[in-house]
Amino acid sequence: MGNGISSPPGEKLIGLANFGNTCYCNAILQDKKAEATLLDCLAELFETISRQKKTTGTVTPKSFVAKLQHENETFRGPLHQDAHEFLNYVVNAICDLVQANDKASPTWVHAIFQGTLTNETTCLGCRAVSRRDETFLDLSLEIEPNSSLTHCLKQFGQVETLMGDDKFSCDACCSRQDAEKRLYLRTTPPAPHMEDSQSFAKLFHRVLFPQELRLPGRLMLTPSDVIYDLFGVVIHIGNGLDEGHYVSLILWKGQWLLFDDDYVSKVDEAMLNECYGPGSEASSSATGYLLFYKQRSTVL
Ligand SMILES: [Zn+2]
Repeated sequence: MGNGISSPPGEKLIGLANFGNTCYCNAILQDKKAEATLLDCLAELFETISRQKKTTGTVTPKSFVAKLQHENETFRGPLHQDAHEFLNYVVNAICDLVQANDKASPTWVHAIFQGTLTNETTCLGCRAVSRRDETFLDLSLEIEPNSSLTHCLKQFGQVETLMGDDKFSCDACCSRQDAEKRLYLRTTPPAPHMEDSQSFAKLFHRVLFPQELRLPGRLMLTPSDVIYDLFGVVIHIGNGLDEGHYVSLILWKGQWLLFDDDYVSKVDEAMLNECYGPGSEASSSATGYLLFYKQRSTVL
């Protein structure tokens, strides 16, 4: 630009050249640029990555981070942020943006991430069954210390008896009764992500997560099990919520890659075994915090 305006940090003020009565086009494009959403900034970031001529290197996500911080004060400032909170915010913000533009429901974001959890309660007085559906974009699991993700998923679908002070108010027989409660995954997304639903401090528990995750048909009301493959892990390194560092392991064409900010390297899949948590809070360690699976034979 030739008018001496200086751009704010993280922003580019680049004009579009008129190459013969193209101002009608430039005016619309520039107007759209001013309205860039978080999704636009994210798309631009991935476009920038894919346009790189070099096969290695670094891209600075300035406009995306600037937009994120502009829209949500939680992410401003130098404090250590929670990767799960960030992921939730971004997925939900993109969901809202896509829904506002594309009235089709479900949108492509829902098609990739959304599942339905059914809470089924059977009154033991009159045997009436009531069901309540809840959609989710990520699945929180109760994580038990020194256990495995597979075990936690099995526990997830266990029958729980409501009795004593927890008796169920049955609409069918209009009384408080003992009842059996079960959770089902009525629909599962092709690419669910899961997180340790316990408090951050409990991340230090040792929890095994498999590369091949088998969701039992019993839990999903399907005749056969559904297989998911692990393709990404967000790892927290450090001792607590307010400190530490995040890195990612991503499976790319059969090779695990470690992404540590601008440092990318090939790693052996045995590194996954080092992210199960140390089983004690005494030592600083790398712990799998968010797990990303995709349904086998699903093309994303
Ligand atoms: Zn009843």
